[in-house]
Amino acid sequence: MSVVTLSRTVQRDPGHEFGFELRTCRWAELAWPPAAATSDDTVTVVARQLGTKRRRWDTIVLECDPDALRRRARFGPDRLDGDLLHIVHNAPDEWTYYRDALPHPGYPWRYVREAIHRAADRGIIETRKNGNRIEIRRKWAYPDWLERIIAIENKPDLDASAARALGAQLEYDVAMGLADEVWVATRQTGNAVEPALFEDLPVEAGILTLEPDALAADVAWYPRSLAVDEPGTRILERPVGDGHDASAARFEFIDPETKADTRLAIAERAYERGWRSFVDTMRPDCRQFQLRARDGQQALPYCAATDRCQTAAECAGSCPHFEPEPPAWRTRDWPIEGGPGKRLQHLLDERRRRRRPGL
Ligand code: SF4
Repeated sequence: MSVVTLSRTVQRDPGHEFGFELRTCRWAELAWPPAAATSDDTVTVVARQLGTKRRRWDTIVLECDPDALRRRARFGPDRLDGDLLHIVHNAPDEWTYYRDALPHPGYPWRYVREAIHRAADRGIIETRKNGNRIEIRRKWAYPDWLERIIAIENKPDLDASAARALGAQLEYDVAMGLADEVWVATRQTGNAVEPALFEDLPVEAGILTLEPDALAADVAWYPRSLAVDEPGTRILERPVGDGHDASAARFEFIDPETKADTRLAIAERAYERGWRSFVDTMRPDCRQFQLRARDGQQALPYCAATDRCQTAAECAGSCPHFEPEPPAWRTRDWPIEGGPGKRLQHLLDERRRRRRPGL
């Protein structure tokens, strides 16, 4: 039966990449920044598996202005997409015809009208009809809540071949400058010099060594702050690097305004999803699905059928061990509340919500 087991023992070491990633997220939620590099009153929002079409980061830490983050909560737990951001950024204090209030978005006005209706339905702007005209008025100014974006790649076992693949990705990040810092998180070895330092990674990337059981981390190498306010360089293609490929690298420039929009779009998605959303792509409705607590706190997924922490890819309807929850488990409130799987989802939702001040 799917239950929340508050046991401290977990049979599988989270050296598994997915478990390690979730431990990194939990560590970041509790302990970021790793040193007093930013002001103490910064609060963080942690998410995972987010980025752009071309590049997805394992863990994302948003450093936020605490008051502004609280004011962001007025706009609700769901993300604001680019169309909604265009409206809340430009909605005036006084009733104004929407075409006079909003800068032309570069696409037809009928799409703006549709977004205005969505914004009104969500209660984040006010609208009224004046004859045939739709007028809008802001309810609140959209706050400047995002301060910095930190991207972390998790590689618990960073050998030379993993470092080679990761090195190219980190070079892309450094050239783009979309995140303020990029890091690699790897498992702590206890060696006098961490092996990750010998790997061929860009010097701009920080190296964090994490001990996932104790949830303790050390900085092996500090990152360089990236130029997020300057044009970025997107590497489209590069020579293979085998000495025979004489082709030139191809790249394009990205202007700072586009980067700023992309950063805010990523931040909004991170705000909505957090890192506990892993359960949304798994099968908590399987009778083998469990959440097991680490530190008496962090709920990690656990599969009773395979007796270990399962990955999100494994935990799908196609899993050979999948067994739907018996309807008998869905006793009271069924089918409105669902069975134990639904309760686990609610538990994680509740924890995510608690990390968003003001909601
Ligand atoms: S991995 Fe398979 S058996 Fe295990 S909880 Fe997920 S779907 Fe069920």
